[in-house]
Amino acid sequence: MDPVGVAAAPEAGTGPAWRSKCPWGAPNTTSMSCSLADVMSEQLAKELQLEEENAAFPEVVAVAEGPFITGENIDTSSDLMLAQMLQMEFDREYDAQLRREEKKINGDSKVSISFENYRKVHPYDSDSSEDEVDWQDTRHDPYRADKPTTTPRKGFIGKGKDITTKHDEVVCGRKNTARMENFAPEFQVGDGIGMDLKLSNQVFNALKQHAYSEERRSARLHEKKEHSTAEKAVDPKTRLLLYKMVNSGMLETITGCISTGKESVVFHAYGGNATEDKVMPPECAIKVFKTTLNEFKNRDKYIKDDYRFKDRFSKLNPRKIIRMWAEKEMHNLTRMQNAGIPCPQVVILKKHVLVMSFIGQDQVPAPKLKDVTLNSEDMKKAYYQILNMMQQLYKECNLVHADLSEYNMLWHDGKVWLIDVSQSVEPTHPHGLEFLFRDCRNVSQFFQKGGVAEALNERELFNAVSGLNITADNEVDFQAEIEALEKMNEDHVQNHGKKLSMFSSDGDPPIYNE
Ligand code: ADP
Ligand code: MN
Repeated sequence: MDPVGVAAAPEAGTGPAWRSKCPWGAPNTTSMSCSLADVMSEQLAKELQLEEENAAFPEVVAVAEGPFITGENIDTSSDLMLAQMLQMEFDREYDAQLRREEKKINGDSKVSISFENYRKVHPYDSDSSEDEVDWQDTRHDPYRADKPTTTPRKGFIGKGKDITTKHDEVVCGRKNTARMENFAPEFQVGDGIGMDLKLSNQVFNALKQHAYSEERRSARLHEKKEHSTAEKAVDPKTRLLLYKMVNSGMLETITGCISTGKESVVFHAYGGNATEDKVMPPECAIKVFKTTLNEFKNRDKYIKDDYRFKDRFSKLNPRKIIRMWAEKEMHNLTRMQNAGIPCPQVVILKKHVLVMSFIGQDQVPAPKLKDVTLNSEDMKKAYYQILNMMQQLYKECNLVHADLSEYNMLWHDGKVWLIDVSQSVEPTHPHGLEFLFRDCRNVSQFFQKGGVAEALNERELFNAVSGLNITADNEVDFQAEIEALEKMNEDHVQNHGKKLSMFSSDGDPPIYNE
């Protein structure tokens, strides 16, 4: 170290060595000091340039809104993600070109050639469904209002047997017509609205067959484009979302798929770094709600009558409705968590992707109750725990699971954990008590078959959970009383205008005996 070299300050006017080597020559100014104003203006220039750039090259993919991750910008640090984004842009342009060619070739001809199979972006992935497709039209179909529930699962209407069975020709024909809605959205079924169209079973079945094979064909075509393994089950947009979660460090790695169901795909992941307000669980389950609509259309009765979501429901497009399922699961899990019911803990919700804690260990999910063999002592323990949980769910969370069975209960750490609550509703839901009765039937049958002598039958269990005292001693009458109660609640709501009037705002369950 040369103390002189450090200490020697350049003399004014001479400047350091690089100055003379600078290809643009030495600056005129002799002053070495750099004024604050200069620095500032340089920054200003940079800012201005950035602004300009941003305006000229807007972000390709929209960042998720939502309250959970804020202030987040598109992270373009990953080459993989950049490549994905570019690919998606390219695919869209390619498809647009394809459509132009298709139009040119077909012209006004009555016979047209479709290039659809050559498209890069599957119709479900395309952005257009985000805002342009509005589901409202189909939701308010005139015949949808009486499509109901007229023939419940038991297959007939009213008290006693054989009043109107599901085999009734007229009812059946109308139902067949209404059921056509469940075919894939792009499957054209014509306009049956306005005429009292009754399809015979034969015609309906032929149409159904055709719709399904079309759906499979479309799925096969789509699948060909997906090459990766673990992410095979999700569309490119969802994949981006998942990559972003890993990129941000929130997740360490996504190891693979645990389950692919009709409505969702569940992945396992190792948790990453904690953020300011969140500690990541060591292992996570990522539930991706499928963005194809078919399955969900069957389920809108769970959500569209739920007053919490009702107002929003009618205004939303399909993609947003699917996000609502994820949101619903999140809210319901949170309520359960607050009541101390063993269930996955919510980590984060992003669009239709819900990240929660993983029930299980070392990537192995806890077995479903239907898959474990419990000794009689554990079986009995499990039963009483479930009885307890059902009561807590009803009384403390003001919820009915609505899909409770040995398929949605996991055995972990010597106890039962409840999962899969996206369809759960409040007891005052127009069909809430029927759902509860169905849950009770599943639970009761499972434990009675499993040899738990103490297990209540479904009617006793229903009363024990709901606190209602329905005395009917056979299933048909019991169910009829349940429906009468639901109707009473609905009438009350109609008369009083507000659903909330049925129960206090602190989430107590409804009181039916007023
Ligand atoms: P679906 O609507 O497809 O039935 P579920 O929420 O029941 O969705 O999840 C499907 C499967 O994924 C479950 O049966 C379970 O095996 C697994 N799973 C879901 N969530 C978790 C979790 N938090 N921890 C461990 N496994 C889970
Ligand atoms: Mn399930």
